[in-house]
Amino acid sequence: MAESDRTGGILTIDLGAVAANWRLLRDRAAPAECAAVVKADAYGLGMAEVAPALAAAGCRVFFVATLDEGIRLRSVLSARATGAEFPPPAAPTIFLLNGAPRGYEAELLQYGLIPVLNGLADVAAWGLLASMLGATLPAALQIDTGMSRLGLPPDELALLDGEPQRLEGTGVILLMSHLACADDPAHELNRRQLDAFSAARRSWPGVAGSLAASSGLFLGPDWCCEMVRPGAALYGVGPVPGSENPMRPVVRLTARVLQVRQIDSGAAVGYGATYRAGAPAVIATAAVGYADGYLRALGNRGAGCLGGHRVPLVGRVSMDLITFDVTEVPSELVHPGAEIELIGAASDVDAVATAAGTIGYEILTSLGKRYSRTYLSAQT
Ligand SMILES: *Cc1c(COP(=O)(O)O)cnc(C)c1O
Repeated sequence: MAESDRTGGILTIDLGAVAANWRLLRDRAAPAECAAVVKADAYGLGMAEVAPALAAAGCRVFFVATLDEGIRLRSVLSARATGAEFPPPAAPTIFLLNGAPRGYEAELLQYGLIPVLNGLADVAAWGLLASMLGATLPAALQIDTGMSRLGLPPDELALLDGEPQRLEGTGVILLMSHLACADDPAHELNRRQLDAFSAARRSWPGVAGSLAASSGLFLGPDWCCEMVRPGAALYGVGPVPGSENPMRPVVRLTARVLQVRQIDSGAAVGYGATYRAGAPAVIATAAVGYADGYLRALGNRGAGCLGGHRVPLVGRVSMDLITFDVTEVPSELVHPGAEIELIGAASDVDAVATAAGTIGYEILTSLGKRYSRTYLSAQT
């Protein structure tokens, strides 16, 4: 009996592949600095394991979304420092993409977290804390160049230009913006946003700029500026949809077979009887369901791989179970305890996402908490 026998699904996360992906992106973006986005528990893969692997690979700058994520990341990364190195390496820089929650600004200082200021109100709140402390506090400033999500719109930027005292006490160390359509290299907004960003940067000579995430990094060196901020590509998601994925796969997911049954032609499979066998068939029931983040949209659309054979998912996805047509698989491979691969070489994260009508990001961040998780260390 292995520990993993206690669960229905087995998730293997290759930290060596995460580190290799970071190095590939770093080399591609050089001389720009390559940061890493580890928000949402490193896209569902586990920040506590992923962030130290990235730091060991040489990553010095991290982005998370929220204050709580930042506090957790700081603790994860400082636990890694052994004290054996001399001189001690500088503490990694951590930016909070969603900024400082109002009223909690001082907590950022306590944990050495740097806010992304997304509007004049953020700038004022950060400046107020600075003046109370009589200090200059570092911050990133995000400007909205056409996505209309976060960041200073052009009118707020013009106000700052005219009234630079608004920035008193704030040391802007990074000017950033975010691309709306970087996964579509032909989209005209990519150039428009770069032009708007470049124009805005003229008021900030000497301040580092950051525009590109995973896909933007592949638009070309102009978009890389001084720092890139990839997330998804680190975790194996293809950065340029429709072209070959240069990233190493990170995630493998298998589901354990609980039961195998023969059914007659015309028999129904699963809730709603949405599938009916067209001929006598063999059905394997495996112990993963939508409660594990295996999306219900994959009913009658997903597939698995059993001993190198593609097996279509038939019927609906239940909360804890899925059913596969394994009729074509040699019977010695089909037995309780056998593992059916759901994400892996035969069907990567992007392929599963396409079958579910979504993107790889959502497949990863949905990965459930019930799986037995194995981390392959970066050294192996
Ligand atoms: C999530 C996020 C990223 C990382 O994006 P990927 O597409 O996963 O590389 C970078 N910048 C911002 C502002 C983000 O919100």
